[in-house]
Amino acid sequence: MRVVVFRPINDTCTGAFRIGSILDDGRIADLTPEGLSRISCESELLKFFDLELGPLRNTAPGRTFERTEVTLVAPVPRPGKVICVGLNYRDHAEESGLPIPESPIIFSKFPTSITGPDLPIKLPHGSSEVDYEAELAVIIGRRASRVSSTDAMDYVFGYANFNDVSARDFQFADGQWQRGKSCDTFGPLGPFVLTRDEVADPHDLRIRFRLNGETLQDSNTGQMIFRIPELIEFISGSITLEPGDVIATGTPPGVGFARSPKIFLRSQDIAEVEIEGLGVLRNPIVGEEGQDVRSAK
Ligand code: ZN
Repeated sequence: MRVVVFRPINDTCTGAFRIGSILDDGRIADLTPEGLSRISCESELLKFFDLELGPLRNTAPGRTFERTEVTLVAPVPRPGKVICVGLNYRDHAEESGLPIPESPIIFSKFPTSITGPDLPIKLPHGSSEVDYEAELAVIIGRRASRVSSTDAMDYVFGYANFNDVSARDFQFADGQWQRGKSCDTFGPLGPFVLTRDEVADPHDLRIRFRLNGETLQDSNTGQMIFRIPELIEFISGSITLEPGDVIATGTPPGVGFARSPKIFLRSQDIAEVEIEGLGVLRNPIVGEEGQDVRSAK
């Protein structure tokens, strides 16, 4: 199932959402429970990702919409946590000349950084080094505390494209990464979450990033150093994971700041993350109002 969160374009209530799935013909089936005319709160959506409750499976589709009749937002618009993994691709570690980490390096993005498909990535005031990182996002589907790697996949709801947008100047100036990783719109996710049952092997998916149509990252999730079960065991060993939590599993080689010359996102660029089977996550880049168009370094 390709799970989406959307708003009918004729719905004038901008703070409300509906949940649904993309059908084979591209139409969108509304799975918002009957009697709930709309979901008014982003956190209310999290229960739809709880496999214990299974509300999506038990709901008969309501009306269907043409793709042009709706606006998609991030499939998890406000996760409880966004946990990222640093330096988790073998080919990226080798390219960087850095040793393979012995245990996962985790850091977080604030949940307010999440944004959806086709929505703008906004260049923050004061940064001129905004970078991209194509990543496979794992969406948690069950409360997980001290889960072993053997059982870990039972706790996965599904997978989505993610762009771990990073202001390198903020990231390196601060000495830690929180601000540079958490700016508003720095967490594009989507366009849908593909449920776990439809992914034969999440560690064998082509992963790419394109900037204005040019491929800048092209690898395979098989290059991950710490695989999804190990990551869930490691994180849940001390941090409870909850339905709707997002784990961004790290990025392959080819990010902008590691290139020569460096490449950073500029106003009017188009960023695209494409992982096999997960569609294309496309976002335009916009400068802050009054901000000059940036030049690449
Ligand atoms: Zn990352």
